This record gives sequence, C-alpha cells and structure tokens, in this order.
Amino acid sequence: MGIVMEHAQISETPADTTRNHLVGSFCGDASGPTLIAVGSIHGNEPGGSKALRRLALKLHDLESKLHGRVFLIEGSIRALADKVRFVDSDLNRHWTRENVTALDLGGQGSRAEDWELKELLSVLREILDSARNEVFALDLHSTSALGLPFATVGDTLRNRRFAQKFPVTILLGIEEQLEGTMLEYLNNRGVVTFGFEGGQHDQPETAANHEALLWLSLVHAGIAAEADIPDLDGHRHHLAKASGRARIVEVLFRKPVSDDDKFVMDPGYKNFDLVGKGQTLARDRHGNIQSPRKGLILMPLYQGKGDDGFFIGREVAPFWLWLSKLLRKLGAPTLVRILPGVWRHPDDSESLVIDTRVARFFPLQILHLLGFRRRAWKGKRLVVSRRRFDTRSPFV
Ligand SMILES: [Zn+2]
Repeated sequence: MGIVMEHAQISETPADTTRNHLVGSFCGDASGPTLIAVGSIHGNEPGGSKALRRLALKLHDLESKLHGRVFLIEGSIRALADKVRFVDSDLNRHWTRENVTALDLGGQGSRAEDWELKELLSVLREILDSARNEVFALDLHSTSALGLPFATVGDTLRNRRFAQKFPVTILLGIEEQLEGTMLEYLNNRGVVTFGFEGGQHDQPETAANHEALLWLSLVHAGIAAEADIPDLDGHRHHLAKASGRARIVEVLFRKPVSDDDKFVMDPGYKNFDLVGKGQTLARDRHGNIQSPRKGLILMPLYQGKGDDGFFIGREVAPFWLWLSKLLRKLGAPTLVRILPGVWRHPDDSESLVIDTRVARFFPLQILHLLGFRRRAWKGKRLVVSRRRFDTRSPFV
C-alpha cells in the first residue's frame, strides 16, 4: 500500500468512484491500531483536505516504521470541487440508519450525497472489517465564525481518554445533539472518534492546525513512536498555542434552524464568547432570538447553509468528569434502572424510558454524568440514550 493519488477525478456517475476518496493509505505492522482521518466532509472546508494531502506526502518515509495502519480520506469530493458546503444535502447529516439501510438494499438515491455516502461506506467498512486492533477516527472540520480550534467528542470514556491527550478544548455532547453524522455512525460501530474544528474555513492557519493534530494523533493512537516524527514538539506547541487554555465544555442547548426561518446571526460572535441569559444573539422571521441561558456560545452560524444556528455550553469542572468516570466504571448506568419510573427500553439496550411523573425529581444532570446525553420525548415519557462501547472496544 502507500498509493497517493494526485488529484481526485470527479465522476459523473456513482459507479466505482470509491478510490477517489482515498488520499493515501499506509500500512506498517498491520496488527497494530488503525487511524482513519477524514477531511472536508463539508466542501466549503478545504483545510482538512489540504492537511491530509500534506501528511500523505510526508508519511511515505515513515510507513515501514508504523505500528498500525493509516487511512487518509476526503469526505465530500463533489462539494469540495464546487467549493460549496454540500451539493444536495448535508453529507454530515446523511448517515442515518434509514439512508444507510436504503443504500444497502440497493437504492441508488437521487442526491449527490447519496453517492458520496455509498462510496465512503464501502471504504470505511473495508477498513473496519479488516481491523485487528483499536480503531480511531478523526473528522476534520472548520467553522464559519472566527475563534479558537476545539475538539467535538461523543461522550464515551474511550473517546474522552483519547481526546484528553491533545492540548485542545474538548466539547462534550454536541455529537449527541446532531442526527446522522459520520462520527455517530462510526461511534455506533465501536470506533474511538474525535471531531476537530480547526479554525475559520478560509484562514491558512486552519490547515496548519489540522496537520499538527494529525501528527499528534499518530502518536496518541499508538501507531508512530514520538522519536520517529519530525518535529513532534513543534506540532504540539503549535496546537497548544492556537487553542488557548484547554478546557472541557459541555453542550446544553442547540438552536435548530431551517431554510425558511431566515435566520441571521448578529455580527461579531466568536466561539466560546460568554453570553448572558436573555441576550439577543440572532434574528429570524419570528423576531429576536435570545440566549436561553448564561453560557459560552459555540459555532454561531455565519454562512448561508446549515441546520444549527448556535449552541450554548458551559465549562465542566474536572471533579464531575472524574465522578462520571467512576460511576460508569462501577456500572451505575445499568443500576439506574432500579429507580422508580425508570425502565429499560424494550428495543434498545442503551436507552432508558423515564416516566417523568414518577421520576420527576430525577435531575437530567445525573443522566448526563452516566452518559445518557441523547433525549427524545415520546408522549409523557422521556427516552434517553447513551452510546454502546463506552468502556469496551469491539476491535481489540
Ligand atoms: Zn464541517
């Protein structure tokens, strides 16, 4: 292996374009861990693709020393060529069970993103099916607003442990607010996942931040030795400097928007700016939109396309992280089912059904601690879900 494609050919048809997504693949000792790095799943975020191509050129010299496998993958080839976020629909909301099942049943789909999804699934499945050790996946993004780079991490203990090795702020719980992301799909397959917002879309530092993250991830995944990577300290220093004080922030609120809302963010908000309860942040056709709580604003939407207006989060004290780790290791998520008004979901072992009339004193914060971050109301009942593979890898 070790083939680097110069430039992806954009195909008009969905047939046999899988190889175009692969920017490079490198295999040293195949019994080691696997690192999958995906860039530019949003076509208006070129930084990820640039960083992957830079890494691919340099990784050849290291290939024989790698303890494991590395796959560098471009996400949305068609949107990237057109420099748009997506062609027909957001590829990073496209990985729903319904879409995946439809393609598996032979459906062709009519949207460009159906083709992208089909191609990516075939590449990723081949990688996962041949893995003989832990699998890590990075998803490289950028934001429309200015601000510090940060990581987005689905709340499992395995994800947290990996993410905390990087000198960056970690956002917990955002993955659980979004449906159909690629990392959601990979998490459900048991992969350790790490999303990274490297900076503003068009800033040259963004690709540099992505590249630094990629080099560090080779070491943190256990695939390359520190000493084998040229200037690893430089990359670590670069990322730490770009990221500011590394914190852990949990997402508590998402403002959803649709195309006909005419949502417009007020100017000047950056990631992690402090906002007050009731502060006007944006406007839409219904009027002013205020922050429902005091907190840190995350990913304010300053581009035409997107379903998320902004998020509000808050910093988590290390004590709570320690406590939740302890509780999960002790099996508290299973024990919680003995509480009155709480029972196991009949079809899903990772979900609880809560009768809020009975269990009304049960604070949601406790469920967060135990990893149940995804919530849905079914009539008077609240269904909360956590991720499988919280502490255990299916690959090892
Ligand atoms: Zn993105």
